[in-house]
Amino acid sequence: MANTSQKIGFLAPWRNMLLWKQIVIALVLGVITGVLLHATGNQAIAGMIKNIGTLFLSLIKMLIVPLIFVSLVCGMTSVSDMARMGRIGLKAIVFYLGTTAFAITIGLALGLLMQPGAGIDLSAAAAMEPKTSPPFIQQLIGIVPKNPVAAAADGNVLQIIFFAIMFGLAINLVGDAGKPVREFFEALNSVVLKLTEIVISFAPYGVFALMAWVAGTYGLDLLLPLGTVIAALYIGCILHALFVYGGLVSVFARLSPVRFFQGIIEPQIVAFTSTSSSGTLPVTMTAVQQNLGVNRSVASFTLPLGATINMDGTAMYQGVAALFVAQAFGIELGMSEYVTIILTSTLASIGTAGVPGAGLVMLSLVLTSVGLPLEGVAIIAGIDRILDMARTSLNVTGDAACTVLIAKSEDQIDLEAYDTPHVLKTPDVSRA
Ligand code: ASP
Repeated sequence: MANTSQKIGFLAPWRNMLLWKQIVIALVLGVITGVLLHATGNQAIAGMIKNIGTLFLSLIKMLIVPLIFVSLVCGMTSVSDMARMGRIGLKAIVFYLGTTAFAITIGLALGLLMQPGAGIDLSAAAAMEPKTSPPFIQQLIGIVPKNPVAAAADGNVLQIIFFAIMFGLAINLVGDAGKPVREFFEALNSVVLKLTEIVISFAPYGVFALMAWVAGTYGLDLLLPLGTVIAALYIGCILHALFVYGGLVSVFARLSPVRFFQGIIEPQIVAFTSTSSSGTLPVTMTAVQQNLGVNRSVASFTLPLGATINMDGTAMYQGVAALFVAQAFGIELGMSEYVTIILTSTLASIGTAGVPGAGLVMLSLVLTSVGLPLEGVAIIAGIDRILDMARTSLNVTGDAACTVLIAKSEDQIDLEAYDTPHVLKTPDVSRA
């Protein structure tokens, strides 16, 4: 008995710590462990540790379909004003497209300034098959699911969003007869949220494992030759987050940007380590509602949409990478090529799935559009994971910024909750 209480006493500071602090500690410990494993030639152990990370990622992915569907249906039934729903959708799309174009411009500017491709010879790289995207009209038609169950099974987020909106709308339209269904979804929503909370409490262990694996696999030596590409993207992501999102939050929403960044630290770190914005969605949903006080009716709509179509980090990466390839091959780009890169990167980022490495596949599309050699993709592939970490983190930050902005403009944010420091803690399931 004494032994058990001693053990619990020893763990108490950790268990009582706020979740974001646990995650930051796990991140740092993961890097240290990975670097040590790499330096001592123990990459295999890093590979084994990765399994814990994979387990954590599977747990959060498990939540995506029920979370999007249930919370969006509840979001729909909680707004009686359909015109408002349409307005929120329009604002989200304008925000998402506008900031994306901005992000690529920053990427291109940094690529021109920092010259990441100077002094690198790509001619020995392997040939790659270009990726082509389906015509735009086909993509639009594809949003309507022929079979909602298949859409859920495939995890097709846009199709799930579409079906959930229609379903919620129908519940509203039937009025009183739909009341039991509405109440059922409300109850289901509480259960799904509890489940999310439990899964998120494993984040520190998942983050530790994923970091140890990345640092253990890559070590520090691979980073040096392509260091300028990495630096350009990381600087770009930080600038975009601080000035574009921070600026929009403080100027347009008149809210504290410091509190905004504090409130989304958990999803940022989970995105950074998981490199999947769709996978991070449950964490983003929880943080934006609980830490920043955003009403569910906004968050349940703008976040899943953003995780699917809003990828500012990915778009910026396309810009930096395209310039890297052009410079490495000594190819001059003119104004029309830059405009083409901005347009295709925006489209490519919309079409990119929020899963690890998807941006790399879409890069071939951007390179092809301006006639750049696809061999560049092979070199970028070597460091893609490290680039993916930064761009996914920015992608998720953009979704959260848009959500806060819209919630403020629609008066759907609890300002007291926004101004209250962090609330997310590891839930005590033992007492539940
Ligand atoms: N991994 C990114 C995301 O999930 C997509 C990409 O590869 O750019 O947001």
